[in-house]
Order: sequence, then structure tokens, then C-alpha cells
Amino acid sequence: MSDALLPPVPTPEPTSPRDRRVSRRLSAIAESATLRVDARAKALKAEGRPVIGFGAGEPDFPTPGYIVDAAVAACLRPASHRYSPAGGLPELRRAIADKTVRDSGLEVAPSRVLVTNGGKQAIYAAFAAMLDPGDEVILPAPYWTTYPEAIRLAGGVPVPVLADETQDYRVTVGQLEAARTERTKVLLFVSPANPTGAVYPGDEIRAIGQWVEDHGLWVVADEIYEHLVYDDEDGLPDTGSMPVLCPDLQDRCVIVNGVAKTYAMTGWRVGWMIGPSDLVQAATNLQSHLTSNVANVAQHAALAAVAGDLSAVAEMRSAFDRRRHTIVTMLNEIEGITCPMPGGAFYAYPAVKGLLGREYDGRTVDTSADLAEVILEKAEVAVVPGEAFGSPGYLRLSYALGDDDLLEGVARLQRLFARV
Ligand code: PMP
Repeated sequence: MSDALLPPVPTPEPTSPRDRRVSRRLSAIAESATLRVDARAKALKAEGRPVIGFGAGEPDFPTPGYIVDAAVAACLRPASHRYSPAGGLPELRRAIADKTVRDSGLEVAPSRVLVTNGGKQAIYAAFAAMLDPGDEVILPAPYWTTYPEAIRLAGGVPVPVLADETQDYRVTVGQLEAARTERTKVLLFVSPANPTGAVYPGDEIRAIGQWVEDHGLWVVADEIYEHLVYDDEDGLPDTGSMPVLCPDLQDRCVIVNGVAKTYAMTGWRVGWMIGPSDLVQAATNLQSHLTSNVANVAQHAALAAVAGDLSAVAEMRSAFDRRRHTIVTMLNEIEGITCPMPGGAFYAYPAVKGLLGREYDGRTVDTSADLAEVILEKAEVAVVPGEAFGSPGYLRLSYALGDDDLLEGVARLQRLFARV
């Protein structure tokens, strides 16, 4: 719950508006750390260095062929060359409503769906529609790096609540209650989570939802990793969608989702928000001025994706599951690293506090940010430091990369830390 867990807000200087080149609002936003790490790794690769990237949060699979075919067909239809309704193609909104009842059990009218440029824009739209200046949003940490920036851009105040590896990165109702104030409006809830891969069991989701309801709060439920949940010892874990497990919340809940992770479609930029009619209408009005509509060709690709079956994600899930076991086992073999087994998404989030305070090549490394630099320099492996997620002392490694690269990358870390 401390500001130390948030990205710094620079003090705006000078004060004359004409001398201020960049607005205060945008000066306060940091570049996405995950995209920065990925860009740095790609730049080093382009220089010919054999960098292995664990930075990017995107599947290494191509988009399935039938989805690409639908986009090609859409390119050829003149209707795709024109503006379309700001809220999304009607057939796509309907297909998203159908997919939602199929996958999570939540019944929604198509009019309560807003199609956005990726889940990222849905998050921004949701906060822009909900928050007034000073409204507080409780943000479980480690958090995905975009959330605090989207909250601040909308005038809100992110209030991080840290859940560490000793609690499998899941916040408790007690912790949430300790962070609640008169100004609290919204809880951000994500399961499976980025960056930790944490999956909340159904009883914890119900308890948190009940707490939200008891205090008249709102919830933004990010379900972008809904199909990347792995078996535990007892098979598929009992989990679910918060507004389905807590139906009374539905009038105060916004769901964020998209095609990026489920169908290997990060570059197509299609996501959506689902919420109460007044919020969706407000967010649609914003979108009508901001972006008009999402590119029609991408919307047709998304339509083929959500109207189709889930076989492609089932295949990816079994590959990710295999890699999850490999990476977690190998990371835990390194002395000084503790890595819980993630239940979902495609990230491992090891605690590396045991590797700090040591010397690497004559340089004492005290922070996970410095450690990530040493790892890139010495082992040519790109990872994202926990500082980007409001939790110094950790690293995030995406395991959505090929098996050979994964094995070689983690072996490099084992060799690097064995030397010290
Ligand atoms: N939510 C979470 C938790 C994510 O990790 C991401 C992507 N990294 C998104 C939303 C947004 O995905 P996109 O904008 O690519 O749809």
C-alpha cells in the first residue's frame, strides 16, 4: 500500500504552460517496461547478439489459418474499407456475447459489449468511464504494468496491495479491507494474472466478490487469460468469472477480454469490454471521438476466432503447460531463486531476493532492475524486472517461447549464477 510500489510521477517543471513542452498528464506516464525490454532484446538481436527473449507477453504461435483467411476475405469486401459502428461490428458484438456465455457462463446482451483496440484500450476505456479525479482503485500487486498508468490517466489513484510468493501472489480480503478508504471506488481483479500466473480458486473469488458487494464497490475483472488455466494435482482447478460466481455484482462489474492471448493474435489489436449499459455507452462515446472503430479487417479476424472452436488454444495450452514445468523446475534449481508454480497465463515470477547484494564481475547488484541488466549483458537473456510490476526483488519470464530457446535461456541463467 505504499507509493514505493508505484511508478514515479515526475514533479512538473517549469510552471508556465507555454514553457511546459509536454503536458503534466503525459509527463507522468512511463514507457511500458515490458515493451522496452522486448525492444532492447530485439535491437541486440539485430546487432547479431544471440539474445533469448523472455520479455514479451505473447504466444510464439502464428494466428490459426482459418482466422487469417477470414481477414483476407474481409480485405476484399468494400464494406471493410469504410467506417463502421464505433461500438464494433454488430455480428462481432453478438459473437462475443455468445462466446461469453459459452466460456464463462455470463449472459450479456450484445449492446453491452464494446469492441476496442486490444484489451489494453478496454482497460483504459473502463477506467475513463468509471473514475473521477481522486477516486481510488485497489490494485493487487505484483500488477500488470499498464494498470496504474491507465488509472492515473483517467484521474484515479492506484492503491497497490502486495501479495508475495509466500501467499502464491493472491491477495486476501483482509489485505483489501486494510487498503479500503472512503475514496475507494474500484477493485482491479485479474485471474489468471500477469505477471505472476496466479489463479484464484472459486471460494476466494466469491469471498472477494462478497467484500466488493458489501462495500458497494465496483470491479474491473480482466479475463484475458481465461483459457490458459492448467491442471493442478486434482485436475482442472475450481475457478471462474467473478460476475458469474457473484451474480449480484453484475451491475457494478466491467469485464475486459480479447483475442490476443487465446488465439495468438497480439498484433491484430482486438479486445472488448463488457459492462452495464450506461458505462458501455459512455465508453462508446469516448471511442467515437478517439478511434472511431477498430479496423474492420481485424474485427472480421476476431469474429472468426470467437465464433470458432477452442482447439487452437487447447494445443497452445498443452505446450505452455509443458514449458511451465520445465522453466519452474530449472529456475528453482538456482540457489537464491524461489519460483512458485503458476496456475495460469504464461509467466513464471521467481523471487530473486537471494541473488541480490552479491558481486557480478566486480559490480554489486542490489536491485532486480540491475540484476535484469546483468542477465542481459552477461547471459544474453532478456527478462523483465519486478520493479515494472510494483514488486522489486522479482523477475518475470514469459514462457511463451520455443522449447529449445527456453531450455537454452534458463541453462544460461543456471551457468551465470553458478559462477558467482
Ligand atoms: N490484460 C492483461 C493482464 C495482459 O497481460 C494484457 C497483455 N499483456 C492485456 C490485458 C492486453 O492485451 P491486448 O491489448 O494485447 O489485447
